[in-house]
Amino acid sequence: MATPLTEDAVRRIVADVVGRLGAGDDARTAAPAQTQPSAAPPSAPSASVRSGGASGIFEDGAEAAAAAAVAQLKLRAAGFAGRAKAVEIVKRICSDQAEAWGRLELEETRIGRLDHKIQKLQVIRNVPGVEWLRPLGMSGDHGITMEETTPFGVIGAITPVTHSIPTISCNIINMVAAGNTVVVNPHPGGARCAATAVAEFNRAFERELGIPNLATLVREPTLDSFDAICRSEHVQLICVTGGPMVVAAAMKSGKRAICAGPGNPPVLVDETAHLDKAARNIITGAAYDNNLLCIGEKQIYVTAAAYDRFLSELEQAGAIKLTPAQLERLSAEVFTMEGGGGGCAHPVLNRDLVGADAAVLAARAGAAAPAGTQVLFAETDADHPFVMVEQMMPMLPVVRVRDVAEGIREAARSEHGYKHSAMIHSLNVEHMTAMVQALDCTLFVKNGPCMAGLGDGGEGYLSFSVATATGEGITTPSTFTRNRRCVMVDQLRMY
Ligand code: NAD
Repeated sequence: MATPLTEDAVRRIVADVVGRLGAGDDARTAAPAQTQPSAAPPSAPSASVRSGGASGIFEDGAEAAAAAAVAQLKLRAAGFAGRAKAVEIVKRICSDQAEAWGRLELEETRIGRLDHKIQKLQVIRNVPGVEWLRPLGMSGDHGITMEETTPFGVIGAITPVTHSIPTISCNIINMVAAGNTVVVNPHPGGARCAATAVAEFNRAFERELGIPNLATLVREPTLDSFDAICRSEHVQLICVTGGPMVVAAAMKSGKRAICAGPGNPPVLVDETAHLDKAARNIITGAAYDNNLLCIGEKQIYVTAAAYDRFLSELEQAGAIKLTPAQLERLSAEVFTMEGGGGGCAHPVLNRDLVGADAAVLAARAGAAAPAGTQVLFAETDADHPFVMVEQMMPMLPVVRVRDVAEGIREAARSEHGYKHSAMIHSLNVEHMTAMVQALDCTLFVKNGPCMAGLGDGGEGYLSFSVATATGEGITTPSTFTRNRRCVMVDQLRMY
């Protein structure tokens, strides 16, 4: 195995290659303002970058990473103004293309809802940019100290099929705002629309900033291209957004990994809640993109004192109730038992029904759902596969619990220690406190739909990568920075 190169060595090599290949292109690639000293002057792209054209789309993970490394040096020279421009470009294009790209993503992935696919691109404007980065100054008898956030370099981003373009766009904003460039291994099921978006971003990056390949992408992503990105000497950090397998793979990569992993968010309703509002909020959250959101309400626990009233509020609000026979029929379509005897059998999800419309699920259950039905529900026990498996469908299992203490215990069991998201509908702050402490989640929403946790109806900013498994939380530009300290001893104080 080759000896890993230091960051400085990579910079020297890239600068050398750029220098030898770059004669004649300087004017086109010049940064708008040279606000920081650069390790290498911005120049023409290397040969491998040219093979990707201006679009940033590559056949090979290693080449895509190398091209992003060249772009990172140019971004460095472009300073904060360059990063801010790149962020503005991504936000503007997402807004302009929301409808077209929403359709494209739905046509390719065949999961979720068009209205929400469009909305997820429109709200990209709520992702924080360079303004998020704040240096920290300290001053005292011994002089002054400044702590600054600096980029890692190139970040490998692995993105899910559930929100292909939104996650990539959001990752690019966060990472480039922090001074990094990005190489993306998208989910194969959403790779074509991802390539369309990245190519469009790159054409604008080149036209308006003179820097192509701020984000590069592997056209036909595979586990091999994931490995190539992880092994690339240019990639300093991995950020994965996905389920348990990719989190495990990233953790084993040998690189530092930021992991936005799976969830199975429970929601608890007690007798103090406004039950009509709780029912409406839960339907809103679970129906969003047919429950593809990792933060979406997946199973409901209701205290005995509220149970019957809450179920009738759910029906009043438009959710369709399945009978036990219909639930059994749907369960047989959604899950297969694998693993055989010895008590090891476990339900496995039928991916064909992930993100399906409520009407499709109702038909499979043998139930009638009027046009416009957003969500189905059924009474289940606490061990039902619809409760324990992250099923990503607009079908909510409802579990009766004796009291809040039992509800919290069961909610924690179904969350599987992912430390992702949970919701409560209650007016009792002791219940809220007990639940948040028991589940130790990254995102805890009280008396609202899940999206309130990402700034839609609640206070706060948006990200499509919630770093649960590794603890960074809802990602921002700061998540993708290194902290550096610069100290001046005994001098430069004004007093
Ligand atoms: P997925 O795990 O099937 O795929 C995610 C990405 O990982 C894809 O690019 C896929 O190609 C890649 N991948 C999968 N297994 C891999 C392996 N062994 N090695 C290398 N790469 C691998 O997930 P999905 O179905 O696309 O998305 C849904 C999952 O993602 C759910 O579990 C959901 O909770 C989670 N998710 C989490 C967040 C978050 O912010 N925490 C956001 C969105 C989705």
